[in-house]
Amino acid sequence: MDCLFCKIVNGDIPSNKVYEDDKILAFRDIAPEAPCHVLVVPKTHISSTDEVTAENSAVVAHIFECIPKIAKLGGADNGYRVVTNCGPDACQSVQHMHFHIIGGKQLPAHVFPEND
Ligand code: AMP
Repeated sequence: MDCLFCKIVNGDIPSNKVYEDDKILAFRDIAPEAPCHVLVVPKTHISSTDEVTAENSAVVAHIFECIPKIAKLGGADNGYRVVTNCGPDACQSVQHMHFHIIGGKQLPAHVFPEND
């Protein structure tokens, strides 16, 4: 399968790793939008949150169990935001489900800064 994040998980493409266990990998975004900008992905291929099912959702729970420690490892020690984009309207650019952890600075109060 020609999936960028599967290639990163398999080590075929290098990444700046923040955390790894048997189920998930967390690595720094190549185009960070904050001092802490880490992506967390399941090692198994799930295209997007649209593809989460009763059979594969345990890895989503595991990701959220690990997010606090990944955020600290990534440099967000005073709060952070978790974002996932799903589908064209959300501008999902990599079709392997991933959660952005963004922090390490004061973020705008709203997801849409023009509403501040
Ligand atoms: P999204 O737009 O939500 O699909 O997020 C995809 C993210 O992957 C973007 O923030 C990109 O900067 C990031 N990205 C793309 N290629 C790489 C890569 N090779 N290593 C790390 N992050 C990447």
